Amino acid sequence: MDKLILYFETIPSWHRALILAGGIAIFWIIENAIPFKKFVYNKWQHAFINIFFTVTTIIVNFTLAIILLKTSDLVNQYHIGILHWFSIKNVFLYTLIGLLSMDFFGAYLAHYVEHKTKFLWRFHLIHHTDTWVDSTSGNRHHPGESVIRFLFTTFGVIITGAPMWLVFMYQTLSVVFTQLTHANICLPKKVDHILSYIFISPDMHKIHHHYKLPYTDSNYGNIFSVWDRLLGTYSYMHREDIVFGIDTHTTEKEHNTLNNLLKIPFQPYRNPEV
Ligand SMILES: [Zn+2]
Ligand SMILES: [Zn+2]
Repeated sequence: MDKLILYFETIPSWHRALILAGGIAIFWIIENAIPFKKFVYNKWQHAFINIFFTVTTIIVNFTLAIILLKTSDLVNQYHIGILHWFSIKNVFLYTLIGLLSMDFFGAYLAHYVEHKTKFLWRFHLIHHTDTWVDSTSGNRHHPGESVIRFLFTTFGVIITGAPMWLVFMYQTLSVVFTQLTHANICLPKKVDHILSYIFISPDMHKIHHHYKLPYTDSNYGNIFSVWDRLLGTYSYMHREDIVFGIDTHTTEKEHNTLNNLLKIPFQPYRNPEV
């Protein structure tokens, strides 16, 4: 465990980039073998849009990274946050509580608020417009949303009192889970269902991408499914019935052109069908 902590304390940026790019490439290959849905689409053109948003997400996070580093240093210097309230000696328990707290305050809460606040939904909606959810969709975030998510991650670090190695560990796990849950693959139904008792399974997140309410407003989790299950936001539907996209932006001109996707947050607000 000490070695793992040391690794994440000093994880080189190129390792993080490799995990992101390698993951997309591996799932890109696997999804041809066991597709969740057989899409008729221009995979490369679709990938271009989503990789554009992945690159802008990386730029935002890289530019603001110093804020995250300073925040983590300060909360640990002044013993702020959940991890400092109890003196947890067991390093596994410390790590687990830290990851769960980061997952709730930095990710679940961020996602929930993005769905419930009109202003934030305007930005998050771009992620939901994707009608061909695949390995490239995980980081399809408008640059405005990338900033919003960064602020929530920083908030998560403060509430958790997370040291930087824990933040890097969480972010690395988050990249892996994001790719797994978005990739156009399907696990055997039973495996997916059992997995969903602990983690966000691929089917669980794909239900979140169903084009209509109330499913869009459910399964907000990022890594652990405990928050959805505890807080009543868990939902289930048969994978065969899932239709990707969002009912307010159904035409290809709107959801499959970079120019329009960048403008959506500034266009008149559209109410979803209830
Ligand atoms: Zn969402
Ligand atoms: Zn998603």
